[in-house]
Amino acid sequence: MEAIPTRTDPAALRLPAAVAAAFPPSRAAGLARLAGVDPAMYARTRNHLRGGVTRLSPYLTHGLLSVPEAIAAVGADGKLAQELAWREFFQLVHAREGAGILRDRFRRQPRLAPDAGPRRLPRALVEGRTGIEALDAAVRSLVDTGYVHNHARMWLAATACHLAGADWRAGAAWFQFHLLDGDLASNALSWQWVAGSGSAKAYLADQANLNRFADTRQQGTFLDRPHDDLLAGPVPEELLDSVELDLPVALPDLPPPTLDPRRPALLYHPWGLDPTWRADEDADRWLLLEPAFFARHPWSATRFAWLLAAAASVPGLRVAIGDAREVLANRVAAAQRGDAAPVRHRAHPAAAHWPGPRDPLPTAFAHRWAADAAPRSFSAFWREVAPRGS
Ligand SMILES: Cc1cc2nc3c(=O)[nH]c(=O)nc-3n(C[C@H](O)[C@H](O)[C@H](O)COP(=O)(O)OP(=O)(O)OC[C@H]3O[C@@H](n4cnc5c(N)ncnc54)[C@H](O)[C@@H]3O)c2cc1C
Repeated sequence: MEAIPTRTDPAALRLPAAVAAAFPPSRAAGLARLAGVDPAMYARTRNHLRGGVTRLSPYLTHGLLSVPEAIAAVGADGKLAQELAWREFFQLVHAREGAGILRDRFRRQPRLAPDAGPRRLPRALVEGRTGIEALDAAVRSLVDTGYVHNHARMWLAATACHLAGADWRAGAAWFQFHLLDGDLASNALSWQWVAGSGSAKAYLADQANLNRFADTRQQGTFLDRPHDDLLAGPVPEELLDSVELDLPVALPDLPPPTLDPRRPALLYHPWGLDPTWRADEDADRWLLLEPAFFARHPWSATRFAWLLAAAASVPGLRVAIGDAREVLANRVAAAQRGDAAPVRHRAHPAAAHWPGPRDPLPTAFAHRWAADAAPRSFSAFWREVAPRGS
């Protein structure tokens, strides 16, 4: 299943105008968006597709903004703080369980169809032709802008996993390919939460729920049944035909980094584009993209175009392709012997295999989790890490 990513001229990776307008790829744009967040409005309206959600996720996923920065702006209690804590909860689970997050976390996914596969989804869903307006609009948004509202993500995932019996991994790969905020932990663990392999109770939504939160008025769809009867019948006809996902990777064609042994080096990954990290230090700065990661977790050309543009937020950052172990092992050893200048990177669960010293990523809540084991549930995590009184 793992295809070797093809290489593309970076100049040919164009960011669609609609994406650049909706999510300008810079820290400045993330900070401006953060300054405009209204936490009270968020708490009142967030479940509605037209509600006051923040759209901060691409900036948080790629480290252009940190959760502590967001908390400093919006306050440490309230609904928005709790949603930001979900992000840290998922990162913590990933840090403790590693690649285990890509396997069913608590139990086998209920209602898995016999012909399900890790890249197989209902054709009508992928093509945005289910006939259910809220689902089809969400798919258009996913493909055209790389963003989908949380509630619509849950509807798509519930339809794929419960109504059609698709493997949650297929849905996660589909999302990861398109979402500008596509994040291994938040994505895989959210799919598991909806699918019921990583939660006590699977999530399901009926047409009345979609109509209420998407401002539609549809009736007679395959979701238009009493909630408790949604899974009573066979797989809806609209979802019977399935398709193997085609997720071609267009990795920017760039050489490996040239690490000068006389110069300190700071290595960045796609989840740590933080211009404040060791900002005062005189060092060579490299963003390293690992082909093996993208072979396992394909990204669209739009995602790469967004990332390359966002990388300009870190002054002096150059982009390179290479395997972190090959790039860093000798250099780290030489630095330890005193034969080369130091080299370091920023910790992240997806970069756990990177050799060499690392600085922690800043957290607002997760550092208060004392146990070695990953928390089983968000409520267990929140009980321990929430500020007193929230
Ligand atoms: C099936 C599915 C897949 C998802 N995949 C991703 C993903 O790849 N990357 C990702 O960042 N989020 C993912 N989420 C979580 C959530 O949908 C998005 O973080 C949120 O919709 C992003 O939009 P926003 O910034 O406007 O969110 P807001 O509602 O404004 O929330 C503010 C921030 O809080 C965090 N947050 C909010 N809700 C969640 C949540 N349920 N889980 C984790 N963090 C949350 C995010 O960092 C978000 O930017 C997924 C959810 C589902 C149901």
